[in-house]
Amino acid sequence: MSNVEGIVPFGLRNGRMYAATEVANGLACDCLCPGCATPLVARQGEHRRPHFAHHAGAECEYGAESAIHRMAKQIIADHRRILLPGWDGDLIHPNPSMLVDIKDWIHRADRVEMPARVAQLTDVTLEQRVGDHRPDLVVNDDQGELLIEIRWQHPVTPEKKQAMEESGRRMIEIDLSRLGLFDISRTDLLIDAVLGNESNRKWISCPEAIAAWIENHRALCDRVQCANASIQEAREVNLRKRRDLLAIERNRRWQYLSELAALDQITRPEAIQSRLHELANKDIPKAEILQREIVPTWVTLHLTDPSSDCWAVSAHPKLWWSAAYLRFIQSAPAGKVLTTMAIFNWLDLTFGFHPIAYRLFQAQRTYGIAFQPGSRGRSPPWCAYFSDKENRAIPNLWRIAQRFLDRLTDAGVLDRVTDGFQIAI
Ligand SMILES: [Zn+2]
Repeated sequence: MSNVEGIVPFGLRNGRMYAATEVANGLACDCLCPGCATPLVARQGEHRRPHFAHHAGAECEYGAESAIHRMAKQIIADHRRILLPGWDGDLIHPNPSMLVDIKDWIHRADRVEMPARVAQLTDVTLEQRVGDHRPDLVVNDDQGELLIEIRWQHPVTPEKKQAMEESGRRMIEIDLSRLGLFDISRTDLLIDAVLGNESNRKWISCPEAIAAWIENHRALCDRVQCANASIQEAREVNLRKRRDLLAIERNRRWQYLSELAALDQITRPEAIQSRLHELANKDIPKAEILQREIVPTWVTLHLTDPSSDCWAVSAHPKLWWSAAYLRFIQSAPAGKVLTTMAIFNWLDLTFGFHPIAYRLFQAQRTYGIAFQPGSRGRSPPWCAYFSDKENRAIPNLWRIAQRFLDRLTDAGVLDRVTDGFQIAI
C-alpha cells in the first residue's frame, strides 16, 4: 500500500472518477487530482499498468488515498449492492459464549449463526455526518441504515468503534490496504475487492449479532445456574449422608461401654506391672528353652520388647519374639518377604491379645477402614465414638507387631524392602 511517488490511480472529471484506460492519454484526459485539484496526465504505457501522474510533478500527500476512497464509494453507489461480512464473535463476545460451573465443567451457548450475505442497497449517501463522525458511506438495505468505512491507510479507531456500538449503529469496514497501488488502479480488481470479497471486510459494529449473542449468553447463564444448583444440591445430599453415617457410628459407643470403663483400670501402671510379672512367671522358662535353638546366638540379645504397651499381648515379649524369630526368620527360605500384617495375624492366632485392648483396638481399626479408605486402619488408630483420651490409651497392637520387625532391622537381621522386610543374614 506504499504511495508510489506522485502516482494517482484514478482521475477526477466532472464529479466522477475514471481509470486511466477510460480517458484520452496524456494531458488530454482532462482529469484533476482528487487530493490537490491540479491537472493529471493519463499514462497508458505498455510496460506499466495504466495510471495517472501529476502534470506538474506536484508534491501531493493525499492524491492516492483520496482517489481510492472516491472510486470505492463510486463503485458502491453505481452497483447498489454490497457483500456483508459474516459475524463470528470478537474478543468480548466469543462465539459461542462459554461459562464454567462450580465443578469446573465448561458449558457452551448456542452459536450465533450469521454468514456473509449480499445486501441490495436502496439509498447511498457519501460522507454524511452521523453524530460526531463522518463515515465514508451511509447506505440503506433491507435492515435500515448501514455505515461503510473504506480502509486504505487508516483503520477505524477504537473510539469510533465504541461510539458506533454504543449508538447501536451498523458499521462495516472494507480493507483495501492489501492491494498494491497498481493492482488497485485496475477497475475490475477494485470492483471485486469493494463489492464481493468476503475476506477483506468485517463488522465494526453489528447490533443484531450482539443482541443474538446476549440472548444466547443469557440462556447459557440460566443453564449454568441450574447446573450449579444441582451440583450444590448433590453436594449437600452427600454431606447429609456422611453426617448421618457419622451419627450412626457415634451411637456405637454403647457397645463398648464396659471395655471403656475397664480401660482406665487395665492401663494403670500398677496393673501393667502386675500383668507383666504374671506373663514373665508363666513364659520366661518357655522362652529360655526356645532361645537355645536360636542361631546365631547373638540375636537373642535383641529378642525382647521393653516398650510400655507390650502387656497387651497375652504372652511375655521374650517368649513371642523368640517364637516369631524361629517361625519367620530362622526357618524361612532365602528371599522371603515379611510383613507387619503377617506378624500381627500370627500373633493374634498363636498367643492372642488382652481381650479388652483387642476389642477396643479392633473398633478403631474398623472405624479407620470405613472412614479413611486407603489407611487400612494402620495409623493413627482413632475412632470418633471414643474420646481423644480413650483413643490414646488404647494400645496400638499393630505397632507392637511392627516393632519386632523394626528392632531386628536395626540389629542388622532384616533389610527394609518396598513391600516389607527381607532377611539380611
Ligand atoms: Zn494531487
